[in-house]
Formats: sequence, C-alpha cells, structure tokens
Amino acid sequence: MLKHGAAKLPSTKTKKSKKSGLPSTGWIDISVPLSDGMLHWPEDPPIEIKRVIDMKNGDEYNLTHLSMAAHAGTHMDAPCHFRRSGLSIDKMPLTASMGKARVIEIEDNEFINVEEIRPHRIRRGERILFKTKNSTRKWINKPFNKKFVHLSIEAAKFLAQREVQTIGIDYLSIGGYEGNVIEVHDIILKAGIWVIEGLDLSKIEPGNYDLVCLPIKIAKSDGAPARALVRPI
Ligand SMILES: [Zn+2]
Repeated sequence: MLKHGAAKLPSTKTKKSKKSGLPSTGWIDISVPLSDGMLHWPEDPPIEIKRVIDMKNGDEYNLTHLSMAAHAGTHMDAPCHFRRSGLSIDKMPLTASMGKARVIEIEDNEFINVEEIRPHRIRRGERILFKTKNSTRKWINKPFNKKFVHLSIEAAKFLAQREVQTIGIDYLSIGGYEGNVIEVHDIILKAGIWVIEGLDLSKIEPGNYDLVCLPIKIAKSDGAPARALVRPI
C-alpha cells in the first residue's frame, strides 16, 4: 500500500514572473510608459492624458482622453515624416520591426559615429538598436536634455549605404536637437530606413535579440507611438 503522497508526479511547474504570477516569456519591454505631462520634444505639443469620464466622480465607467504628437514617448518615424511622397506609418511592412535585431553599445558621449560602428560589420537588412549613454541617464526624466547622444551625419550616411532595414535609439530623436536633426532624418528616411525612437535600453546588454515593435496603425501618419519588446536569442 502506498503511503499518502508517496507517488510523486513529475513537476509541471514553469518559470513564473514575480510580479504577475504568469509564466515568463523572456520578452523584455523596452518602451517607456506614456503619461500625462511627460517629457516631449520641445517644439511638439504637450502630452495630455486625462480621465474625462471618471467613476471617482460617480460616472458609470472610466474613459481617458489623449492629446499628443504622433512622436511621443517610444514611437516610430515613417518616411513621410521628411518626404512628401514617403510611406506613412500604416503602410509599414511588419518585417521592419519584427524579427532579429542587434543591440550595439555606443561609448561616445556625443555622437554615434562611423569609427565606433564600423567594427560591428553592420550588414544589409539588419535591424540595429543603439544603446547609448542616454539609457544610463534615464532620459525620460525632465528636463529635456539638448545634448543627448545622436547620429552624426557621416554615421547616418554610413547606415544608409549599408542599407540597414531599421534603426532604434534611446532618445526622442536620431538627430541632435541643436544641430543635425533635419539632415540626419532626411538621410535615414530617404534611404527607406524605418526608425524607432524613445527606447529604454537601460536593462539591455549588447547582443542579438528578437524584436517586436508595433506602432499604432494611424492612417496617413508620419509616425505613431509603439510598444517595443526584445527577447535574447
Ligand atoms: Zn519621431
């Protein structure tokens, strides 16, 4: 006769995430939360996220109203941001932001420059996310940092020549606020490269990942907020 509990079944336990209790999928969220009054590009309209119908006030349900630029928080730029005839965000091929991606760490305090990225042997069709000092500075905190790390014009030309598919950066723009913002966007978007801006790569080591980044499907828009995730390979 078996004692109670003597016959052990194989464990069916899976790794669970501490917070949610759900099985961990290995995906890491690299997008920032959109919140009322959060940091934004100085010339863009403010980000307003307000409860306009509120159960706290006796209403029967909650409803939030959003008002912001399409380039708020973590977002993607479409070619039509800088080209009249360029594709809009709703026409983006899903392969632009879903698939293998490489996180490259940049040491320079000012620029992503050619000298630093050349040794990484960037190839045609790659999706490259640049982890810069912007991530260690917790860029989402105010005030807006006019000196954030961004692409040099030469590096933008280099990436265009390499025909990468997509690039991502850990600040609100691939180009600098006080210098080359127009030129860098012009070079990259004219080359048909898709752009993810406003990433949080602070917890991400350089290396190879699966990437999923899906911008909201806003008809004819030059950009859209996005949720971005990576999973180490
Ligand atoms: Zn943008």
